[in-house]
Amino acid sequence: MSEKDLNALFLDTLKDIYYAEKQIYKALPKMAKAAESDQLRAAFEKHHDETENHIQRLEQIFELLHKPARGKKCDAIEGILDEGKEIMEEYENEPALDAGLLAAAQAVEHYEISRYGTLKAWAEKLNMAGAIKLLDQTLAEEKKTDETLSRIATSVVNAEAA
Ligand code: FE
Ligand code: FE
Repeated sequence: MSEKDLNALFLDTLKDIYYAEKQIYKALPKMAKAAESDQLRAAFEKHHDETENHIQRLEQIFELLHKPARGKKCDAIEGILDEGKEIMEEYENEPALDAGLLAAAQAVEHYEISRYGTLKAWAEKLNMAGAIKLLDQTLAEEKKTDETLSRIATSVVNAEAA
């Protein structure tokens, strides 16, 4: 009997973000390469390293659940990353490139924050202490990255407007 309860939804959503993190891991070096600002490039490179840990933490959660680590195609992240790719192409060598990259990257972070926030809340409901801790570590890094990007955006957009 397969009941679609909160446990099933948790696992499905875990697969969604696992797929998303792997796509983000592939996209970040391309975004770093495209960035004009050294500060922005460094932020993308740092978050690329963190993303490797995000993937590993998700694999640990699959292990805690005794489930194989498997992704499930996430149309939302595909769309967000496609938009980022479009900006890289359409704004190549243009003054607003970094502003566009920042906007795309923040959309990615907001998606992740939303997913990890939800998963953490469900893990609390389901009394999954190990998972809560792992999700919370990643959630904190996503939020910090979003703040860093906001800070860089202020200086990049100011420099651009000057
Ligand atoms: Fe992540
Ligand atoms: Fe992230």
